[in-house]
Amino acid sequence: MIKDILKQKKNLISFEVFPPKTEEGMEQLFDTLTDLKPYAPDFISVTYGAGGSTSKKTADIAAFIKNECKLEALAHVTCVAHDEASLQVYLNEILSLGIENVLALRGDKPKDMTEEQFASRYFTYASDIIPLIHKWAKKDITVAGACYPEVHTEAVSKEADLEALKKKVECGVDLLITQLFYDNEIFYRFYEDVRKMGVETPICAGIMPVTTVSGFKNTITMSGSSVPKELLQQVEKYSENPEDLKKAGLEFALKQIQQLRNFGVEGIHLYPLNKKDVSKYLLENI
Ligand code: FAD
Repeated sequence: MIKDILKQKKNLISFEVFPPKTEEGMEQLFDTLTDLKPYAPDFISVTYGAGGSTSKKTADIAAFIKNECKLEALAHVTCVAHDEASLQVYLNEILSLGIENVLALRGDKPKDMTEEQFASRYFTYASDIIPLIHKWAKKDITVAGACYPEVHTEAVSKEADLEALKKKVECGVDLLITQLFYDNEIFYRFYEDVRKMGVETPICAGIMPVTTVSGFKNTITMSGSSVPKELLQQVEKYSENPEDLKKAGLEFALKQIQQLRNFGVEGIHLYPLNKKDVSKYLLENI
């Protein structure tokens, strides 16, 4: 499990995949994962539809990573649409497939949920499910949590967000993974703030390379991440030249990663959006 790897290694490399919509997409993803296996990432995480819409596919992909690729799989789970019974069923399912790592998340409001339903959800925060996951697992497992170097969008303040993070960690988080960011300076300040609170949990820095203009714009809108001038200038310079933009985006990501590793971050978690060539390039060049 990831906890054991953390005891032996100081700088993990991992990446995230998401469940494709179609069966053909699933087959393609299995091919991609098989091709990426020789790069031996420390773990691969698999996202979960906020309302549980992808739960079967998330479990199938995580099981493929663990049992076919023989790599550590980190299965995401969101609690926003679960109660204790349904969450326990899902947890038992992934544990029975041999998965020993869970990323416990609250999730955002699913499209088919009203504001009232969201407000009266059974579990309020990710920290509500973390102790339950440990308890229900009935064995030692790794539980990871999310964190936000640029502050979670719903937090009333940076201080409140950091306090909530500390509480979450105290509930049993073994590993933190950040929201994507492009500005390392912001991450360094966040990292220092977390450590100043006495939280020593390893942190994996989330890196998403820019590969297309439209993808970049969507990412910025959804994550609200700050963009350093250097990256913005490159996106503008190569906006009509997709190949050069991709090259510049990958180089920027590699530079970001190198600086973060020099800083001493415990892990790099890539968000290559299931793209085989992007994953390969980064895993080969890190
Ligand atoms: P929480 O930790 O519960 O925090 C949510 C908000 O509540 C924050 O503003 C926090 O400051 C506040 N808060 C927390 N605890 C307390 C407390 N005790 N008292 C007061 N305030 C508190 N979404 C998906 O749907 N599927 C995925 O697979 C997925 N994967 C993700 C992976 C990563 C690495 C990250 C960073 C995010 C991911 N998300 C995913 C998005 C995530 O679900 C959303 O960002 C969601 O809004 C917050 O989830 P969380 O677990 O961080 O929430």
